[in-house]
Amino acid sequence: MKQTEQKAPKIEFASGAVILFSIFLSLFINYLGILNTREAIQTAAGVQQGAKEYTQLSDPLLVLVNNQIPLPESWVVTPKMIDDEQVDLRAYQDLSEMFAAAAEDDVWFWVVSGYRSVEQQEIVLERAIRENMENGLSREEAEQDALRTVARPGYSEHHTGLAVDLNDVSDEFEESKAYRWLSVHAAEYGFVQRYQKSKTAFTGIDRESWHYRYVGKKHAKEMKRLNFCLEEYVEYLKNQGNS
Ligand SMILES: [Zn+2]
Repeated sequence: MKQTEQKAPKIEFASGAVILFSIFLSLFINYLGILNTREAIQTAAGVQQGAKEYTQLSDPLLVLVNNQIPLPESWVVTPKMIDDEQVDLRAYQDLSEMFAAAAEDDVWFWVVSGYRSVEQQEIVLERAIRENMENGLSREEAEQDALRTVARPGYSEHHTGLAVDLNDVSDEFEESKAYRWLSVHAAEYGFVQRYQKSKTAFTGIDRESWHYRYVGKKHAKEMKRLNFCLEEYVEYLKNQGNS
């Protein structure tokens, strides 16, 4: 009798502990789930926070503009002509030197598209929408389709003046000698291929072999070494305590 009397509370205590532990465990798993979901959302958006709260790093060469993060309102471009296009003065010198160095290797570059104002982007988008409507889509369908390839006005990296489309805006560019030259040398002149196939989850943009972004020599070399796209790189710098 005594033994069972003594055992009963022990069993109760044991099962109580199991229940408490299960509750704790399920809460913990739930918490991990929330973390995962949050991480997935962040990764998909390629940003740490919502677009409106996004804080740019102080180095203007690392300005982040993507389909979640608009061009900062305070952004100022100092346009400089190169070919028939304009780029920001900050990118001009290294871009010119890159073109000259390539020419010595018998590789020729030209800028197809450089700086684009928000108003110009509106025109580009509207043109794409009209084209789709002429092909029989409704206004809404046409807009949705156009936004797959044309950035919303305010959300194009071309607004910064630090992005250039080179030579041939088509997937064939990836097969060219010019593309191979860039793969080896672009970073030496401060440029990175902004949208790579392996990074679409971060950038939200399909591979674009022709679109290059100026970040300056130091950052371009570091991004190449780490194999980081700009979204990953600014996050990495922030985690290192940079602001
Ligand atoms: Zn581009």
